[in-house]
Amino acid sequence: MPSGSDLKSVLRPWVHRARHRWNTALYGECMVLLYHRVVDIPTDPQLLAVKPVHFDAHMRLLKERFSVLSVEEFDHHLLRRERFPKGSVLLTFDDGYADNHTEARPLLEKHGMQALFYIASGYIGSGREYWWDELERLLLVNNALPQRFAFAEDRVRMSWSSDGTTATEHARIAYANQLLIMRALPSGKRDAILEELRVQLGSVVHRHTHLPMGVEEFKAFAGSPSVVVGAHTQWHPSLAQVDEPEQRAEITRSKEDLEHLLGREVKYFSYPFGTGADFNATTERISRETGFLHTAANYPGVVHARSPRHHFPRFLVRDWDGPEFRRQLDTFRRG
Ligand SMILES: [Zn+2]
Repeated sequence: MPSGSDLKSVLRPWVHRARHRWNTALYGECMVLLYHRVVDIPTDPQLLAVKPVHFDAHMRLLKERFSVLSVEEFDHHLLRRERFPKGSVLLTFDDGYADNHTEARPLLEKHGMQALFYIASGYIGSGREYWWDELERLLLVNNALPQRFAFAEDRVRMSWSSDGTTATEHARIAYANQLLIMRALPSGKRDAILEELRVQLGSVVHRHTHLPMGVEEFKAFAGSPSVVVGAHTQWHPSLAQVDEPEQRAEITRSKEDLEHLLGREVKYFSYPFGTGADFNATTERISRETGFLHTAANYPGVVHARSPRHHFPRFLVRDWDGPEFRRQLDTFRRG
């Protein structure tokens, strides 16, 4: 006979599914999809890129089988707590890569669809790679890695020597470890560390394949009927891991930056990284106080009319072909 805790763990998926079916029946369903990049690139350790041919297949399938909402329609249901139509989908993108303008926007326009693009405002027009991409360039795609290397600054520590193992293997381990540490640093410290690493590791040129949009590009992008702009902090920290003044500055300045560039109100926000470890009650309060209508998180789940307005779930989309995308959507939908 199962113990109390065994019984609980046996029942948990059943309770979850029953709740999912109940909520869907009463409050409808909307799958909010999370994309980052639409591009074909040779290396992608964060799995952020969806090939244009796959993105096109995704849009075709959505058009055939689902109902892709405009941002205004999504607002209507979430903010007024009105039941979402069956099979609703909202498209979202995080970060603000240049390929959002050159690849994703034309395909959205072709299919007559709209997406909500959450932009890390500091990167727009900076000519700099996003910090996780820069760390990848420095450590994983750098052909000139020194055989011996030691670096320690703040919580970031990395070292290797060529004895026994190659520098490349050490750099790969350092990359995985440092990503987690660097996301918790305030942007000033992270920048100083990257600057030092650029010099020491001899890799200073940003890859054009990994750039955010330039200012003029961003303005043209934001003028498309397929594009609605939301904020995503200035420099993409894990908000829950920096102090309250830093959180507030990152959140409010991203709204101000984007409004200044576009000359119109920016009403939406998404938490960088967006897992339960990346935002907390303070983050959520600042997001409300800053005046955002709603805020997206990044954990899987179907949105319905009673979902939390300031941390609703999204499904991460990977570089799936059409049939795999269809299978994944069916899995998402079952809850
Ligand atoms: Zn992001």
